[in-house]
Amino acid sequence: MKNIELKNRDLDVLWHPCTQMKDHETLPLIPIKKAHGIYLEDFEGNRYIDGISSWWVNIFGHTNTYINEKIKEQLDTLEHVILAGFTHEQVVRLSERLVKLTPEGLEKCFYSDNGSSAVEVALKMSYHAHRNDGKKRTLFVSLTNSYHGETIGALSVGDVQLYKETYEPLLIRSVQTAVPKDMSIEAAVEAACGFETLCQEKAGEISAIILEPLVQGAGSMHMYHPEFLRLIRTICDKYDIHLIADEVMVGFGRTGKMFACEHANITPDFLVLSKGLTGGYLPLSTVLTTNAIYAKFYCDYSEHKAFLHSHSYTGNALACAAANATLDIFENENVIENNKVISQYMGEKLQKFRELSNVKEVRQTGMICAIELQGYTPEQRIGLKVYEYGLINGVLLRPLGHIVYFMPPYIITNREIDKMMDTAYEAIKTLE
Ligand SMILES: *Cc1c(COP(=O)(O)O)cnc(C)c1O
Repeated sequence: MKNIELKNRDLDVLWHPCTQMKDHETLPLIPIKKAHGIYLEDFEGNRYIDGISSWWVNIFGHTNTYINEKIKEQLDTLEHVILAGFTHEQVVRLSERLVKLTPEGLEKCFYSDNGSSAVEVALKMSYHAHRNDGKKRTLFVSLTNSYHGETIGALSVGDVQLYKETYEPLLIRSVQTAVPKDMSIEAAVEAACGFETLCQEKAGEISAIILEPLVQGAGSMHMYHPEFLRLIRTICDKYDIHLIADEVMVGFGRTGKMFACEHANITPDFLVLSKGLTGGYLPLSTVLTTNAIYAKFYCDYSEHKAFLHSHSYTGNALACAAANATLDIFENENVIENNKVISQYMGEKLQKFRELSNVKEVRQTGMICAIELQGYTPEQRIGLKVYEYGLINGVLLRPLGHIVYFMPPYIITNREIDKMMDTAYEAIKTLE
């Protein structure tokens, strides 16, 4: 009863993200009463495996005992304080740890409160750093099929037409270079050549290239070879172009290393982090950059070179406490190694999807597995059918169009993986 009551009250007053609200005339909205570990529970006692980590943020489960405890401790000490002119222990400690954990050479952290705003920070810093050097670089390059968030700047460098097209007249200047077409090294080399050609034409205008290392999330979980990152790094150095690595989705162990850039042994000029940063608890994001970039803004006030960007909740203490607790778990438990074992198991289970005639391709990078379906028109909304089948059977899957994917919290067990993946298999088989 409570389920229905909340649904009705909700639809009276809420407008949900990324949703055609009319869909909810037929598609039931699901009020969640509580959650623990990988399970969400509604008011009727139905439980759902959170197969997508609540939009890719939750890495150590819901109401995680340890993270809960650390946030509660912080709550009674300091909830928030202005970060201009003031500081606090959680943010200092978090920054020290991030500098240590991230690729060599990233030495300064700038905070904001979601992935999109952190992307904006990186774009503005890149442009501004060139400007402080006396260079006017107003063009940003990104990859075809990329996703970097929904605010105007972030949307401008994205390339998922579904989200972008409508707003095209409002967007800032950007140009797309081809993403490697598949996971082969040949595709990586070919795509990097395309970027080099673009640089030969426009290097003097380009401020930065922004990319999602290894996996393009909202762009259908498209994956490519790490060699691409190495080649892009070299080309950026050659043409004095910044490399912005948007690890909002792939950061914090998702790909089998702490950060995806490590697969290619590269250091970007800007590293953008959010989502898993607080274990999926609180909104927080950060941009890490080098001392070389930082130095370009460091001078007497009268030179007008400071980065005058801020958000009210910059470096929120509760969020930083959640992030520190999350990093404690990485430190105390063998998370990255365990993830490799889980990934292996998921990879084995992924194989049987290949037998289905409506499956075009399966692909995997670490703890991200994707199944591309074929033979459906967009109007058939095949992803929605898989979503509904999942819910009836206790699994939250949220396909991206015709791509069904799994991105569970790292604490999932083999039995739970069986349940999650077998349910998706049955859903896809039923639709064959
Ligand atoms: C989710 C995401 C963003 C945007 O983050 P929000 O917190 O949703 O604004 C940016 N880049 C990538 C790669 C993402 O997956």
